[in-house]
Amino acid sequence: MALDVVREFGSALLVADTYNPRRNSYLLFGLAWGLPVPLLSGILGLRPPAHGLAFQGPVDLWWLLDLTLWLHPVFFAVVFGALGTIRHSKTVRIQELLAEVRADNDRLARVNAELQELDRVRDEFLGNVTHELRTPLVTLRGYVDMLRQQRLGPVVDAQQRALEVMAANGKRLQSQIEDLLSAQRNLSNHTQLEPVQVPLRPLMDEVVARHRPALEARSLRLELLPEPPDLSLVGDRERLLEVLHNLLGNAIKFSEPGGRIQLRFGEPDEDLLPVEIEDEGCGISLDAQDHIFERFRQADGSIRRRYGGSGLGLALVRAGLAVHGCSVSVRSSLGHGACFRFQLPLRDPTSTPMDT
Ligand code: ADP
Repeated sequence: MALDVVREFGSALLVADTYNPRRNSYLLFGLAWGLPVPLLSGILGLRPPAHGLAFQGPVDLWWLLDLTLWLHPVFFAVVFGALGTIRHSKTVRIQELLAEVRADNDRLARVNAELQELDRVRDEFLGNVTHELRTPLVTLRGYVDMLRQQRLGPVVDAQQRALEVMAANGKRLQSQIEDLLSAQRNLSNHTQLEPVQVPLRPLMDEVVARHRPALEARSLRLELLPEPPDLSLVGDRERLLEVLHNLLGNAIKFSEPGGRIQLRFGEPDEDLLPVEIEDEGCGISLDAQDHIFERFRQADGSIRRRYGGSGLGLALVRAGLAVHGCSVSVRSSLGHGACFRFQLPLRDPTSTPMDT
């Protein structure tokens, strides 16, 4: 550090501007700063009167002192001049850096605008494609179901098995398309929330009923602790349903057959009802917990192969809760299940406290 300062000072001494009074006002300032020293020494008469101004031999100390005093202005001028040069070069460097930062900012703003445009085009494209896919898929599923139920004539066992596979995959595809459409609607932040009173118990009955077949198919035990309280949420029914549906759907999907899932309701305050959904499934690593709430993100590459899914569910959960002024978090470790904590709204999220 000290060596750097000396080196910087040394190189400033080699710059011509250090000695140029027209380009470096510090030089004149140094000169003025050093001038009082010889003047004062002359006035105070440091030299004994018997001693003349002439050089008195090889070790004339008075003469050396005189020389040092008279050189003071030059010394200060050079030191200040070098400081002026250092300051000037630092100012130039700062201005260069500022110009670079400004250029970087402009570049970032341009890239940001391009990304936003790409996002918009992607969403529009996804929206159009998924709309186009949904209609023929519904027709296909309808015919597959009719064939399975033998309403179009008898089918042999091998055909029946093939139809079951087709039906399962058609269902999976349709749920992914629904996720994409829902994401296009609900993640764009353009939707206006129109809150209504949503009684909790019928809502929970609907969620559980929707997942009952999957719970039974995998011998999973669902415990509601305690039973849902008898109160009403205030919000958008469809979006609250989507939140609960996605979280319970994930708990089922990532559980091993025979496992247990708990849905716990905490103590409500005026605004919020705390809820937890906990499973005993494969769990989520700490690293993955950072990004699973972002859209199209899954814990790792094997998840899609093993469990399917689009990686949109939790993004919809987070957005669906955020519009209601609620949040969601996860506590989990690999192999030890996952617990999603969130709140449900008990007060109109679009009203201010003054309204009530
Ligand atoms: P998807 O379920 O369609 O893959 P989500 O957005 O719902 O997408 O979830 C993102 C990822 O978070 C999942 O792919 C999975 O890796 C992880 N995840 C979500 N819920 C659970 C859970 N209950 N147990 C283990 N992992 C989960």
